[in-house]
Amino acid sequence: MLKKSILITLFLSSIYSCDQQTESPNIIMMIGDGMGISQVSTSMYSSDNYTPLERSEFVGLSKTHSLDDLVTDSAASGTALSSGVKTYNGVLGLDKDYNPVKSILEISRDKGYMTAIIVTSTIVHATPAAYFSKSKSRYEYDNIADELSKSGINFFVGGGERYFNDRDDKRDIINEMVDYEFVNSMENYRNTDSKNIGFFTAYDDPIEKYLGREPSLDDLIEVTLQKLKSFNKPFFLLIEGSQIDWAEHDNDPEYLLSEMLEFDAAVESSYNFAEKNKNTLVVVTADHETGGASIVDGSLEESITKTEYSSDEHTAEMVPVYSFGYNSSYFTGVYDNTEIFDKLKAIIEK
Ligand SMILES: [Zn+2]
Repeated sequence: MLKKSILITLFLSSIYSCDQQTESPNIIMMIGDGMGISQVSTSMYSSDNYTPLERSEFVGLSKTHSLDDLVTDSAASGTALSSGVKTYNGVLGLDKDYNPVKSILEISRDKGYMTAIIVTSTIVHATPAAYFSKSKSRYEYDNIADELSKSGINFFVGGGERYFNDRDDKRDIINEMVDYEFVNSMENYRNTDSKNIGFFTAYDDPIEKYLGREPSLDDLIEVTLQKLKSFNKPFFLLIEGSQIDWAEHDNDPEYLLSEMLEFDAAVESSYNFAEKNKNTLVVVTADHETGGASIVDGSLEESITKTEYSSDEHTAEMVPVYSFGYNSSYFTGVYDNTEIFDKLKAIIEK
């Protein structure tokens, strides 16, 4: 009798520990910088009235203002999304008293997750930096590169090599990062099975999509997801369509559309992965709208739109939050952007 109960206990505990391992969900966080409803609508009407965001299971709206300004910048809103606190425009990873706050990427890393960042700006730009930097100024790029080198992020893909090996202090951080393999092509990125990889896609800012930026975001995501999956650990992946914002600062609809179409393909790749891998959550949102863009004319038959802008800066409108997969229902409703962090944390720590 005693033996039997010990066996049952062992059996139950082995099931329990198995469950624990498989239950930790993968998180794919996608940020379209400057991507409001108007930007999503532009690519939708230009794509036969279809956006992959229609596959989303839940949709919410998020309030984007910063601590000191109704109109946020990408550092303050990045910090709200990454770490759940409102801070001042220009500040990364610090709260209102300039105390460092832990980002959802760092929380997942410390729970044994694999972590990765893919962006179409430099890797030290405000949005990605909000996930690993604690800096009073988003423009201290050399310092932010140093912080990235110590962050333990497994894979990072983006521009900005110059902040690592062409620095004011003459250090070569790439040489210092002995645990990392650095690659310079998609083929090398795909073929290495290293646990820590840096892939610089440009010396400085990557070029605009319509001028031929490669590799494409969706290809990068597909390769990165296969890599992450191969380690049999949960992962946190941050993806930013960085230049949606730059196109809208330029009030340039052609530039905008090329960036949005690439971002749409990236959403499709992430949703496809989450459809096959049920313990994966995808959240797609923006840090703010840019340009005060509105579609004032166009044609559904011809898939064209005409946009007018009310600003060449950010605006304070709420932005959409789309979610798909594991616990996606958490993201329905109207809430502050800091709550996106709260919800992700609750899901990871469940
Ligand atoms: Zn901007």
